[in-house]
Amino acid sequence: MSLTRIVYCSESVKHIGSNEISDILDVSRTNNAKQAVSGVLLFNSDYFLQCLEGSRAAVNSIYCRICCDQRHHNAQLLAYGEVSERLFSAWSMAYIPWTEATRTMIAQYASGSEFNPYHMSSESVIRLLEAFGRSLLKSEP
Ligand code: FAD
Repeated sequence: MSLTRIVYCSESVKHIGSNEISDILDVSRTNNAKQAVSGVLLFNSDYFLQCLEGSRAAVNSIYCRICCDQRHHNAQLLAYGEVSERLFSAWSMAYIPWTEATRTMIAQYASGSEFNPYHMSSESVIRLLEAFGRSLLKSEP
């Protein structure tokens, strides 16, 4: 069973508040855990950036379902492939809140001053995700 990682970005179609993010995270954590899928979600009020990792079948089926979700549109794959290990093995869906620390981290990997995942290279996105993984591990109690 190939361990596969999908990374995509998308745009919110309307204002998404913290309640809606909580709803998305709740359903994601329940569904992903059932399929041994892990990952991370970042949302900055305009753009989503999400990483899903697990079996090829599971991440593809979840990704297809996510693409049909009318809360966002214009999903664009930033990276897809087999990987030797997970970046977010401890999280069925970690969430990176949009804070000053997040902006600072993103600024190391993005070319512009504003966060726009559509303009990031696959390599930069993976390096950013690796940085998120390290920071999540550090913040573990
Ligand atoms: P149901 O809950 O039966 O809903 C039917 C349809 O309505 C689906 O197409 C669903 O996408 C859509 N829908 C559900 N709630 C709303 C709403 N409030 N407004 C508009 N449309 C709605 N799910 C996961 O399992 N794993 C993930 O990692 C994951 N990540 C997500 C990331 C983002 C950015 C978004 C927007 C959604 C994500 N979801 C994720 C949710 C996913 O899109 C589905 O809503 C969820 O998996 C339930 O699927 P379902 O077929 O049971 O749909």
